[in-house]
Amino acid sequence: MTAAADERARSTSQLTRPQPDAGPVLALDIGGTKLAAGVVRGNGSVLSWLSIPSGIADGPAAVIARQIELGRRAVEVASVSWERIGAVGIACGGPLDPFEGVIQSPPNLPGWDDIPLVSIVQEALDRPAVVENDATAGALAEFWYGAGRSREIRDLVYLTISTGVGGGLVLDGRLHRGAAGNAGELGHLTVDYLGRQCGCGRRGCLEAYASGTSIAARAREALATGGPSSLAALESPTARDVAEAALAGDRLAMRIWDETTAILASAMANVLDIFNPELIVLGGGVTRAGDQLLRPVREAGLAQAMGPARRSADIVLSELGDQLGVVSAAAVAFERLGDRLAGPLAQAVPAGVSNARR
Ligand SMILES: [Zn+2]
Repeated sequence: MTAAADERARSTSQLTRPQPDAGPVLALDIGGTKLAAGVVRGNGSVLSWLSIPSGIADGPAAVIARQIELGRRAVEVASVSWERIGAVGIACGGPLDPFEGVIQSPPNLPGWDDIPLVSIVQEALDRPAVVENDATAGALAEFWYGAGRSREIRDLVYLTISTGVGGGLVLDGRLHRGAAGNAGELGHLTVDYLGRQCGCGRRGCLEAYASGTSIAARAREALATGGPSSLAALESPTARDVAEAALAGDRLAMRIWDETTAILASAMANVLDIFNPELIVLGGGVTRAGDQLLRPVREAGLAQAMGPARRSADIVLSELGDQLGVVSAAAVAFERLGDRLAGPLAQAVPAGVSNARR
């Protein structure tokens, strides 16, 4: 088997749940605006967490070097000796090849074309490393450590609503990566096939309406043609400004916000009917609006799904907050490299066993 085929077999053949005291691992989270690094134990506890601006304009080599240095500092801050760090998990925006460890031109990382991130990190830090799409990894993090932690569930869908919209799937208790490792691109569900232009090249994707960027763009367009609004006083209103103005009763902002939640709800009904999960978890910057977002999406999303899917599901907000990125990266390190960690090993759990602690 090639190394990639071996990685693929490893990542799909078993479900492993880390022992609480497994690890610790070093977790690296590469985003278009922020880099984060942390040291995380098998129970999901974060021993250190550091974050700096990405400085993405400096190009991949400089950013990766900065990320590696941040990782070293995170280990120092955690007061953990390097010898105890058995593996490195990396969460990064896709598309990427999780089996080969190569970043494939993500829209939020300009110039990262076929960057062999995993081999660069492995060489620099002298530890086995894995990379995963950040939203895919987020699904596993929520399943093990977040909203899924205390529930008897096997199927969880995670949606991150931020600058873009991403998704991840835990199906039948395991992370679903798909044939090329890019399953769960829920931001590109078509919600209107003649609709707004999406960054991916298609029209009418969910991301073209519900991402923070798109909410702000739709507000700007409405201001250009529409009636009076408190947003007109702002130079460049953001999604957060739209949410706040809507809450304060601004009619134009309310229209944009209600349209956003209605489109999200309709997409969530699709997700419920396709995957029939117990849980949809919503995370990302736009969900900081809290109940203002969750309540209408949950109510209308569940109402539109077919009966059996509706009755077995709930829609909730992420419970991992700002540390989701590093916890996600760590979760993937435990999932794929748990059997190589020194000390208490991750425990292999047969397929089909529920997430509930036994
Ligand atoms: Zn798209």
